Amino acid sequence: MRPVYLDCSATTPPDPRVIELMRHYLEVEFGNQGSRTHNYGSQARKAVEHARDQIAAVVGVRRSEVIFTSGATEANNLAIFGGGPGHIVTTAIEHPSVMEPIAEFESRGCRVTRISPTPGGWVDAEQVLAAVRPDTVLVSVMHVNNETGVIQPIAKIAAGLQDSEVRFHVDAAQGFGKIAEGLEHPRIDCIGTSAHKIGGPQGVGALIARRRSGSRKLRPLMFGGGQEAGLRPGTLPTHLIAGFGLAAELAVREGEDRRERAAQLRKCALDLLRGCEVNGDPERSSPYILNLSFPGLDSEEVIDAWSHLAAISNGSACASHRAHCSYVLQAMGVQEKKAAGAVRLSWYQSSEQPDFAKMARAIHDRSA
Ligand code: PMP
Repeated sequence: MRPVYLDCSATTPPDPRVIELMRHYLEVEFGNQGSRTHNYGSQARKAVEHARDQIAAVVGVRRSEVIFTSGATEANNLAIFGGGPGHIVTTAIEHPSVMEPIAEFESRGCRVTRISPTPGGWVDAEQVLAAVRPDTVLVSVMHVNNETGVIQPIAKIAAGLQDSEVRFHVDAAQGFGKIAEGLEHPRIDCIGTSAHKIGGPQGVGALIARRRSGSRKLRPLMFGGGQEAGLRPGTLPTHLIAGFGLAAELAVREGEDRRERAAQLRKCALDLLRGCEVNGDPERSSPYILNLSFPGLDSEEVIDAWSHLAAISNGSACASHRAHCSYVLQAMGVQEKKAAGAVRLSWYQSSEQPDFAKMARAIHDRSA
């Protein structure tokens, strides 16, 4: 028996309906959507444009504002590098796919202001807005933090940028299709997303790039066959895109039920895992993520104690080679020992409920 999979922030299990649809686009409609001379191409094109509509509907944008990429990492890089150099305002708790491209700009001489979070794991919108200067070209603030699940005040920041020309980018890999509020704000210029966080396949995502009058055009990072209006050339993976589209549509259609189920799992965990300390303000958190520390235990000990019960993680999977040094918890001012003991439980609507009582006993035995 495998342990219950509770690492859905790293990746969710693909929805069986998505798998079935993708099979069709691998086995039957395998054409290249760029082919203009036959029906194989037009069928693939239809599927891609349908998926574009399904994804656009999640945040209320036009189909032409959805640019397919290989995932949120590429989408974030495109939003950041595609905008060109200048002063950048960001936070100290961004995912590496935002942190690193910004650090690269910094190494080339750009100025960066990084806003630290409050102890609750959220940045203060006023502080972000106050850091914007006449030479600022980009504000980049994530939607839902991947380690703590804390939701950032992106709608407030967007509203505060109303009279500014600055590009506003939001890395929404953990919130797109999961947390309804915030992303539909028309002042958010760029949104990074990944399909595999909402029951879609790995290896596909999108940059949602709203066109606003007065906003500067993004520049591509790669050059080639002109796909995606020249912003992201290369043959589009029709099966992955069709899968992403369906996953996005299902996320909207079933959103309410999904959030309820996630909240119920979160509540059960908190009720039954006595003695744990929650990292991140629970009042501002996504129901899909729970970051916990058990006083006196290191995260490796917790993972080991639960190894036959639940598959969890410490920190984000993408940075797991840097285990034990969560810069997110550090920036929140979490005491080092507590941060070293932090584990992340993350689920999805289809997650089986683990035996939280057994998990609590395993922790008790370890601590004894
Ligand atoms: N941003 C956040 C907040 C994430 O959690 C992730 C995935 N861990 C990414 C960006 C990158 O997504 P991907 O690996 O699919 O490119």
